[in-house]
Amino acid sequence: MNPVITIVGRPNVGKSTLFNRLTRSRDALVADFSGLTRDRHYGKGRIGERPFICVDTGGFEPVAKTGIVAEMAKQTKQAVAESDIIIFLVDGRLGMAPQDRVIADFLRKTGRPIILAVNKTEGMQAGVVTADFHELGLGEPFPISSAHGDGVRGLIDDALDSLGIAEPDPEDLVNDPNRPMKIAVVGRPNVGKSTLINKLIGEERVIAFDMPGTTRDAIEVPFERNGKPYILVDTAGLRRRGKVFEAIEKFSVVKTLQAIADCNVVILMLDAQQDISEQDAHIAGFIVEAGRALVVAVNKWDGLDSYVKERARLEIAQKLRFLDFANVHPISAIKGTGLKELFQDVDAAYAAAIAKLPTPKLTRILEEAIEHQQPKRVGMGRPKLRYAHQGGMNPPIVVIHGTALSGVTDSYKRYLEGRFREVFKLRGTPMRIQMNTAK
Ligand code: GDP
Ligand code: GDP
Repeated sequence: MNPVITIVGRPNVGKSTLFNRLTRSRDALVADFSGLTRDRHYGKGRIGERPFICVDTGGFEPVAKTGIVAEMAKQTKQAVAESDIIIFLVDGRLGMAPQDRVIADFLRKTGRPIILAVNKTEGMQAGVVTADFHELGLGEPFPISSAHGDGVRGLIDDALDSLGIAEPDPEDLVNDPNRPMKIAVVGRPNVGKSTLINKLIGEERVIAFDMPGTTRDAIEVPFERNGKPYILVDTAGLRRRGKVFEAIEKFSVVKTLQAIADCNVVILMLDAQQDISEQDAHIAGFIVEAGRALVVAVNKWDGLDSYVKERARLEIAQKLRFLDFANVHPISAIKGTGLKELFQDVDAAYAAAIAKLPTPKLTRILEEAIEHQQPKRVGMGRPKLRYAHQGGMNPPIVVIHGTALSGVTDSYKRYLEGRFREVFKLRGTPMRIQMNTAK
């Protein structure tokens, strides 16, 4: 399960600079979950082979006014509670600020592991800049520069080491069609996730069920459907109460992101009776970014008139256009209708995600595609695309070799992707087309 690293600190110390460096994104993928997490940013990072989820707690302003500590606690409580480790960021150029002490006291009380990082220390002597901050009593301060990258890798390595996550979970890297596939059902609150999960698990035999020990343990519920084993990855703190599962925490961004990272196929649930929201789009964006196979389930289809149904279809096609690689199914979780088709597509999406794409066939498709439409000339020359090989799976990556490849346009890459998808029948998985620009 992907560990969660949360960045806390007063405004302007460089939290979002660090966040952007770690997640390599200009904009956070999942930001501003209305009502719950305003100003909080979530992204996926990777250091070497080790993936993690990064949270930027955003701007709280613990200025010296009464009630500020309480407000701060409220704002950051959930983020901190869901974290495996906190990076407490301070400003090495300005030195210690009174607010830093307030934040340090607050963080210490949470009992979470904390690493103190002193930012903006590029070109400064480590011993000098960190001296100030020893008095916070949070161990040896770690000098970094978020803007330049100095020390950042060491910081995250230390953070992950301290969690005992030295190696990636080999499970995460295995794409073995003989293993039960892992499914995550994700979506915003009240779309019907628990209802669907209970329908899936309730109707079929539950093979085993592990209660969670700590927040780090993912809950995985094995179940069977049509004699085929699957594993459900929890998104919302499922607990068994009597015969049914219910979500204790009604919704958690972090758990949603962890489940997406940890599964083979995502079922994204939408509510046919509601408009597509920003939050739906944010979750969808994260699924694409993570490269996960996907099937979209439009729930609460029961009792809708044809006008509403048509409107729902149009809305999805327009607002979630970037999910056009995935199939969309109307379902009713309550009635259990549409689930057969849904699961046919879940199986197909996984098969597509781990499809083997042999070099000769890829190259043949490439040649035919070029014959049909050449890449545009750039300056004096024209990119020469010579052959293609598979660079990875889940999602499928096609690497193209040749010369002057940096001149290949995005629209030409999309054209090629379309050709590969069509011939290999790759529905339900994102795909990446990479130009081997080594030469
Ligand atoms: P946040 O409010 O904590 O999210 O801080 P920001 O990431 O927005 O950064 C605040 C300011 O500090 C910006 O002007 C950044 O360019 C600057 N900054 C961030 N990291 C560094 C750094 O490592 N060195 C220097 N010199 N400036 C930095
Ligand atoms: P979650 O927050 O995503 O887990 O959503 P729940 O499963 O708790 O469902 C939220 C509400 O939607 C509940 O009142 C359900 O009874 C209702 N609901 C769930 N599935 C359906 C469905 O297929 N049709 C209709 N009409 N209502 C549904």
